[in-house]
Amino acid sequence: MQLEDCIFCKIARGEIPCNKVYEDDDVIAFHDIHPQAPIHFLIIPKHHITSLAHATSEDAVLLGKMINLVPTLAKQAGCDNGFRTVINTGHDGGQEVPHLHIHVLGGPRPWK
Ligand code: AMP
Ligand code: ZN
Repeated sequence: MQLEDCIFCKIARGEIPCNKVYEDDDVIAFHDIHPQAPIHFLIIPKHHITSLAHATSEDAVLLGKMINLVPTLAKQAGCDNGFRTVINTGHDGGQEVPHLHIHVLGGPRPWK
């Protein structure tokens, strides 16, 4: 299921452009519009999951697939020496976009 007004659902539907790094039937990954590191991209499920706290056991395979993609996509994006993986969840977790996403940050330090 997708939500009409959700910005990441719109990206998944191709209604809002993104700088795509990967796409398959289940997920899409694209560069963050306000990068916090030399390399900063997001991996999202194409169907709407509000946050990690809203994921259910039915999402386990999808979540595993997303986590599994991280090192491959990080390497392709140029993270040659490691990366940071972040999932902000809910208000106190600093989540601004209420559609589950994995941040992948990397590139030469110093950053943050
Ligand atoms: P979070 O605070 O974890 O919800 O992070 C949301 C992230 O989405 C932020 O880093 C934003 O810069 C990023 N973002 C918001 N809108 C877009 C967009 N249209 N394309 C790419 N990244 C976006
Ligand atoms: Zn959504």
